[in-house]
Amino acid sequence: MAELPVAHGWYGAEKILPRITRITEPHVHPVYSANMYLVEGDAVDMIVDSGMGIVPLKPFLDGIRTDAAKPIWCFTTHAHADHFGAMHEFDTRIAHPIDAPDLEAPSEYTLDPKDIPESFQQILIECGYGRIDTPWMIDAVPYQGYDLRAWTLKGAPQTRLVEDGDIVDLGGWAAEVLFVPGHDAGQIGLWHAESGTLFGADAVYDGPLIWQAPGMSAADYAATLKRLMALPVEVVLGGHDDPFGKARLVEMCEHYLAIWADL
Ligand SMILES: [Zn+2]
Ligand SMILES: [Zn+2]
Repeated sequence: MAELPVAHGWYGAEKILPRITRITEPHVHPVYSANMYLVEGDAVDMIVDSGMGIVPLKPFLDGIRTDAAKPIWCFTTHAHADHFGAMHEFDTRIAHPIDAPDLEAPSEYTLDPKDIPESFQQILIECGYGRIDTPWMIDAVPYQGYDLRAWTLKGAPQTRLVEDGDIVDLGGWAAEVLFVPGHDAGQIGLWHAESGTLFGADAVYDGPLIWQAPGMSAADYAATLKRLMALPVEVVLGGHDDPFGKARLVEMCEHYLAIWADL
């Protein structure tokens, strides 16, 4: 198998809103390349999701935070492989109780697409992503000699469990936890009402939604979308893809609600 090139820096970072920086992993396969959002509060910072954990995330964040001496919390939206890879690096770990067991003891996962169950490949094709047929889940290694076969998902227990309606307060910036099941049974997002910012997790992002795999529920997903599309949203920061506004949110929700109405 041909050797992968070495990436120039693993993470991408883009300041998108006051206090909020979007972190990406451009060398991860597009289907598994999730967004992370660094939110800088007055007293505490927070990373919303933590990617694949290919290389340490916290040192990278400390290099871009305004004040790296501040505590930093890790908020995990849901227990899918592309959203909690670096969670174990953080002392404060926040998630919903339903996903806590999976986050503590993750199921086995590899960077070899041949290990993806055929049933999930079929779902990806059906959704519009197409089959994942690249040699690896990443198209570059973070450094020479990186052992692709040694990568594994590391679990950790949550230090704070949150439910719908709980407030995550960073000092000067506080958001409400939204329980948004459907794509995952224990998925949570965040709603920052003051700025109309919705952290949509994998409930809403600007790409094909996935609702057919085990542990997912179209009925729950429909209720989630009805709730989210009614919010006075200015911007949606999804678990994948670029930010978008209210018009696109409503269009997307109506599209999927129509599909699910026929199920
Ligand atoms: Zn995802
Ligand atoms: Zn997901």
